[in-house]
Amino acid sequence: MRGPMPTYTSGVCPLCGSARLRAIGALDPAGARLPPPPGSRVVSCAGCSLVFVDPLPHWSDGDFAVLYGDDYFAAMPSWWHEVREQREPARRFAVAARHLRSGERTVLEVGAGVYGFMARHLAARGWSATAQEPATAFHARLRGADARLRVVGTPFLDLPADERYALLFADSVFEHVANPLDYFRQAHDLLAPGGLLYLVSPNEHSLVNWLLTARNRVTGRGARMLCPYRESFHLLGYTRGALEWASRRVGLDLVYFARRHDYRWLHELHGGSGRLRYGRAALRWAMDAAGVGFNLEAALRRPR
Ligand SMILES: [Zn+2]
Repeated sequence: MRGPMPTYTSGVCPLCGSARLRAIGALDPAGARLPPPPGSRVVSCAGCSLVFVDPLPHWSDGDFAVLYGDDYFAAMPSWWHEVREQREPARRFAVAARHLRSGERTVLEVGAGVYGFMARHLAARGWSATAQEPATAFHARLRGADARLRVVGTPFLDLPADERYALLFADSVFEHVANPLDYFRQAHDLLAPGGLLYLVSPNEHSLVNWLLTARNRVTGRGARMLCPYRESFHLLGYTRGALEWASRRVGLDLVYFARRHDYRWLHELHGGSGRLRYGRAALRWAMDAAGVGFNLEAALRRPR
């Protein structure tokens, strides 16, 4: 099997096309599965505030299969599985329901992986639920998780717009793609009037990333943001400004934006031992509560 061989673009923002880029720092090459091209850096776009790596690798579908492999979805501890299967879909859907203006009960989970947590949550509540996952190796587990799911392998950008959805749910998808504007455009076209695109993506402007980047400026190890060449292969970091720009450009309205619920505090409590873990958990909780944790969620609505 050949190794991944991406093509690269450089010098322009992949979202808004601006060439006004502000360097945050050199890309930290630690843990890279293949060597980054020389001069790789993390930049912030002065036009829309998207954070991305420059040069930007464009992976093929074959590259994705090699990079993500069969172990991309490692087994989760049972307490964390419970959070992701029960608590989070219920919380996120409660947020979505406040902003939904479509009466349809149709959901498409984009890049559903092996779990399809939101699609399953809504299938169990009478919704017509579709789980889109281009890696067909994951389909058996998706179907086995809930026989009510309609599982499709068509790439997201190739889905026909004659079928529309009240809710598009994309967790850990939009930060992986080198052509994000195509994804926002397709989301608009697949949404029913009044429907919502609900995005979950990392917050690259977390306090921990900021502190480690500041430290690395001194030690010369580069910016601690994004991870284009190691797990989990994040190319882009969204901000409120970037999502507002994308929304305006494709005809959606940004109706919800939050940087909360990263659950790092719960990982500290479950993962560590000794009394120090309570202090670390409290610190993690405080950072998350202050909106400088690791998670970002947003809802973009198609006007009626
Ligand atoms: Zn931009």
